[in-house]
Amino acid sequence: TARPMARGRLFFANPGPTNIPDSVLLATARASMDFNDPAFMAVYDACFAGLKKVIKTEQHLFMYTASGHGAWEASLVNTLSPGDLVLIPETGHFSASWTKMCSTLGFRTQPVAADWRRGVEMSAIREALAADTAHEIKAVCCVHNETAAGTRLPIDQVRAILDELKHPALLMTDTISSLGCFDFRMDEWGVDVCVGGSQKGLMLPTGFSFTGASEKAMAAHRASTHPRHYFDWTEMLARKQKSFVGTVPVTLFYGLQEALRLILEEEGLENVFKRHARLAKAVRACVQHWSGNNGPQLFCQNPERYSDSVTAILMPEGTDAEAVRKIALERFNVSTGAGLSNLSGKVFRIGHLGDLNEPMILGTLASVEMALGLAGIPHAKGGVQAAMDSLTQP
Ligand code: PLP
Repeated sequence: TARPMARGRLFFANPGPTNIPDSVLLATARASMDFNDPAFMAVYDACFAGLKKVIKTEQHLFMYTASGHGAWEASLVNTLSPGDLVLIPETGHFSASWTKMCSTLGFRTQPVAADWRRGVEMSAIREALAADTAHEIKAVCCVHNETAAGTRLPIDQVRAILDELKHPALLMTDTISSLGCFDFRMDEWGVDVCVGGSQKGLMLPTGFSFTGASEKAMAAHRASTHPRHYFDWTEMLARKQKSFVGTVPVTLFYGLQEALRLILEEEGLENVFKRHARLAKAVRACVQHWSGNNGPQLFCQNPERYSDSVTAILMPEGTDAEAVRKIALERFNVSTGAGLSNLSGKVFRIGHLGDLNEPMILGTLASVEMALGLAGIPHAKGGVQAAMDSLTQP
């Protein structure tokens, strides 16, 4: 059923899936074609080359017809063996679900506990790795951007710790909500396994995910004894496409080709990062203003870990985030993200990643500010002005 206010555009401020640019939508509107057709193979090869530029790798790339979870699973079963120990720095909901997946797949997990609002301490990661003198830990699984908490993890610092300790564990990184939003450098940062998906910074429909794999990850793959079939990299390499076991999502590649053109050629990756940083800063300025009068506040309490993709907003004690989200959606046609796992009802999230500009984010913030008022949530009015001031700073 249509919402009464559903005229005009739905302002989609979820942290993924994200808005899909019109030109990407149009590019995906194609009739089916044979995925071995030479015309498609040219698009396919160009997409692989372009995606490697976004990940900043010259090594290996595998893609799957699956959402990000599929790429996680593929990455684990291709590089590890049953019973292997993995270290998982705690970031929030997504590090927890990566932990659960590892256990289910038969790996042993060792968490690095953290305050979700401040982000994991690098010293705690160092301590765990330093204690592992027998090198039992085979992989460190990091979430670059914790979408549930709105925090980032400095992956280059994790690399520095591994190097300093000469620890041979694979560095695996979930870049699902950071890629195409803020800086990530697979090769330079010595990331062995980089996991990404289509529906966030790449501005595509949900439907494919991928793994960037280093030479070291490929060597681990050859030694791995974990059962796998659909996600088997060796199976993939035996195919003409060198990826995908099964039908290739052809139309998504036409969308990817256009998205890569927008990111790499039209705007430029560095400008994409600057735009995300600018919009994220404005959202934070707004929320920090609202927090006066005991209003909602930034969930992340550590400015060094602020995420440029998503802001998680913590509600005042005893108030319900879902009431605000409901009003924003039903009255103003603005969709925001819910709080995940134990943050459900306590947090809502504004996604500011992908195809987004200043008026879109201001429209979202103004609508959320109205929703806060209508829901009777204490806050300091004028958050939108603070966002405007942030956006017009020289
Ligand atoms: N990791 C992170 C950081 C995410 O934000 C998400 C999705 O929101 C996932 C993993 C899971 O990806 P998917 O929902 O595409 O399976």
